[in-house]
Amino acid sequence: MAEVTEQRVLDALRQVRDPEKGADIVSLGMISGLVIRDGNVGFAIEVEPERGPRLEPLRKAAEQAVEILPDVLSVTAVLTAETKAAPRPPADRPAAHAAHGPAAGPARPNPMQQRGAIPGVRTIVAVASGKGGVGKSTTAVNLALGFHANGLKVGILDADIYGPSMPRMLGISGRPASPDGKKLAPMQNYGLKVMSMGFLVPEDTPMIWRGPMVMSALQQMLREVDWGELDIMVVDLPPGTGDAQLTMAQQVPLAGAVIVSTPQDIALIDARKGLNMFTKVDVPVLGIVENMSYFLCPHCGERSDIFNHGGARREAEHLGVEFLGEVPLDMAIRETSDDGRPITATDPASPYSRIYREMAARVWEKVTGPGAMPTPPRIVVE
Ligand code: ADP
Repeated sequence: MAEVTEQRVLDALRQVRDPEKGADIVSLGMISGLVIRDGNVGFAIEVEPERGPRLEPLRKAAEQAVEILPDVLSVTAVLTAETKAAPRPPADRPAAHAAHGPAAGPARPNPMQQRGAIPGVRTIVAVASGKGGVGKSTTAVNLALGFHANGLKVGILDADIYGPSMPRMLGISGRPASPDGKKLAPMQNYGLKVMSMGFLVPEDTPMIWRGPMVMSALQQMLREVDWGELDIMVVDLPPGTGDAQLTMAQQVPLAGAVIVSTPQDIALIDARKGLNMFTKVDVPVLGIVENMSYFLCPHCGERSDIFNHGGARREAEHLGVEFLGEVPLDMAIRETSDDGRPITATDPASPYSRIYREMAARVWEKVTGPGAMPTPPRIVVE
């Protein structure tokens, strides 16, 4: 099997000309973040922001030029119009890139420039966690459904580019349409508008992107999706508190962040790292949710505090951050969330759905001010 090498990919891309500049896209220094893994190729094409909307044919041409190479299994090219927002360029970026951006940009990019509001979207909150597996996405979905049950128009943006979970959690499959050929229509279920990398890239495509490509994908999901009028958008951030999360938090105009933690992580200070991360980027922390807080036996109803329950409440008090509530470890939550039937939508009478609605009411109040609830919580008993 002939190896797919960087050289061969770049040679193929040299056949693609920028129609407006009359030279090939490699010589123009437009290719960055080239990644090759087992025949799967990804790269970004850097363009000036104002040219972005017209260059879709160029992006396609670049993909096709690489696709025809022997042993190439998949090609993902993204247009990057906003590379200046990245805090530091990845080491593998061609040095030429700085020379072609919008003329004489600042030497040190201003990360805040990406934080412009999204037209029609009133407020955006992130759901974050210090590490994976603590129930961040489950919380994001049920919180979003809590907002919806409280009468708000809600969108959910799955910013976990590498491990998107919204298609599964919300039971949505298929690809988003683009009725006007410019913006994508978000997918919808349970009254939520949703966008996720999982709708755009087939599940078996390995997520091998990094740096500018991830940022470009995030910006596209944020700004090139027809979100319409939303009262609130919930952003499910990737787990962890590293540079990638920090940059993402900088790239989205966040009104605040909710941190999800299990009792044992609190002890391991993961949640504190989360707090620090948002403080660094000036995003207010709206509060901490303790997930898998205690175990309620489905057979006998007995409650066991298997993880030293209550740690998050104490830690929140200690850190001066609001404790937004606790959600027990319960099979019903796991099964519904893993089956695409989130409990707040499918069993509104469950005590857990009530917890999420109350949490949503409190978060809404915190981001919009007291008395801002449009309608009282709608409790439906079936
Ligand atoms: P993260 O986004 O932090 O990686 P997920 O939301 O994907 O975590 O949750 C990880 C797993 O834990 C999933 O299988 C989910 O259904 C389950 N889970 C999350 N919260 C609870 C809970 N309160 N009770 C039971 N299972 C839960």
